[in-house]
Amino acid sequence: PQGLEGPVAELLQWADEIRRLGVRTNADIPRDAEVARKFGAEGIGLCRTEHMFFEKDRIPKVRRMILAKTKEEREKALNELLPLQKEDFKGLFRVMKGLPVTIRLIDPPLHEFLPQEDEQIREVAEQMGVSFEELKNVVENLRELNPMLGHRGCRLTITYPEIAVMQTKAIIGAAIELKKEEGIDVIPEIMIPLVGHVNEIRYLKKIIKETADALIKEAGVDLTYKIGTMIEVPRAAVTAHQIAEEAEFFSFGTNDLTQMTFGFSRDDVGKFLPEYLEKGILEHDPFKSLDYDGVGELVRMGTEKGRSTRPDLKVGVCGEHGGDPRSILFFDRVGLDYVSCSPYRVPVARLAAAQAALKNKQ
Ligand code: PEP
Ligand code: MG
Repeated sequence: PQGLEGPVAELLQWADEIRRLGVRTNADIPRDAEVARKFGAEGIGLCRTEHMFFEKDRIPKVRRMILAKTKEEREKALNELLPLQKEDFKGLFRVMKGLPVTIRLIDPPLHEFLPQEDEQIREVAEQMGVSFEELKNVVENLRELNPMLGHRGCRLTITYPEIAVMQTKAIIGAAIELKKEEGIDVIPEIMIPLVGHVNEIRYLKKIIKETADALIKEAGVDLTYKIGTMIEVPRAAVTAHQIAEEAEFFSFGTNDLTQMTFGFSRDDVGKFLPEYLEKGILEHDPFKSLDYDGVGELVRMGTEKGRSTRPDLKVGVCGEHGGDPRSILFFDRVGLDYVSCSPYRVPVARLAAAQAALKNKQ
C-alpha cells in the first residue's frame, strides 16, 4: 500500500500537531493494519476476532467447537484452532511493531456459525461422527429469534469459557513469541465485548488472568497486558463506575450502543429509517453520525463515571462513528483518548481530530 505524500501528508502532519485525540484503526488482518499504518494509525483499536473464524478451512473446526456436546470435545476443536489463531495475532503484532493492539474476544451472532440447511447439517454430523437427528436437535436448540440481542459477545464466552482460554493463550502466546524471537515488545489489550454487568467482566477477567499469568510465568518473560471492555450496552454506560473497578480500559461500541439506545435493530433499521429522514423525525442516520442527545449522553456519562473510579482510565471508541468528523467533534469534547476507524478513514479522522481540538478550544 502507498503512503500519503506531498501536500496531503504535510497537512496531516500539521493536524497531528494540533489534535489531542489519538487515532487508531479497526483491523482484523495484517494487510489492513499495514494500510492503516501508512495512513498514520497509532495502534489497533479493534480487532474483531470472529472474522478470523470464517476462513474456509476453519469453519469445520469452528462448527465442531460450537456444536460439541462435551467440554472435552470442544477443547479438542479449540486446540486445533489455537495455532492458527496465534499466527493471526503474530501477524498483527508484527505490523504494529509495539504500538497498542486491542484484541476483542469473539463476538459473533451465533447463527452465523450454525449449519443452515438439512444437507449441511448432515455433512457436519458425518464429520463429527454423530447422527443427523442428534445434531439437528443441537442446532435447533442454538437457534435464536433475535441473534443480535442474543447469545453473543461475553455471553458466549461465559457459557463456553474454554473459548476465552484458547483466545487468551493465542494472544499472550503470540506476544511472548514475538518478544523472544523478534525482539518486538507488545502490550496486548484484551477486550471483552457486550458487557452490561460488572460480574460479566469479573468472571471472565479471572479466567483470562489465570491463563495469561501461567503462560507468562512458564515463558519466564517480562510481559504486561491489559484487560478492558467494550461499552456498548446502555447498562454498561450507566454502571460504568462499577465496571471500571474491573476494566483497565473502555472502548465505546457505538454501533451496538445506538442499536440498544434507540431500540432499532442494526439489521432491520433500513425498513423505516428512510421514512424517518424524509419526514424530519431524525436529522441524520444515527448509525453513521452520533446521536448527541441520547447515545452521546451515554458516552459522556460512561466516560465520567468510569473515570470517577479510575482517574487514568483510557477511553476510546471503535464503532463506525470513530471515523465520522461530526462524531469526532463530540468525542473530543467529552475527553475521549482516541478514536478507532477503518483504515481508509484514518486520514479523515486525523484531520477531524485537529478541527475538533481547535473548535473545542474556542
Ligand atoms: C460496535 O458495536 O460499535 C462495535 C464496534 O462492535 P460490532 O460492530 O462488531 O458489534
Ligand atoms: Mg458491538
